[in-house]
Amino acid sequence: MDSSIKEILSVLACPKCKGCLITENERLVCTNCGLKYEIEDGIPRLIIDEAEDKQK
Ligand SMILES: [Zn+2]
Repeated sequence: MDSSIKEILSVLACPKCKGCLITENERLVCTNCGLKYEIEDGIPRLIIDEAEDKQK
């Protein structure tokens, strides 16, 4: 994983619940609500409408 992503993660929070984000398979996953956000060109797309819900 790109180290710059980890630096970004330290300042980012889930836009839905403000939970912590971790990287998983080139995506960001919220440890609180489980939403998954795509990473595009090294930039996380923290858009709730585009996030994938784990519970689906
Ligand atoms: Zn969340």
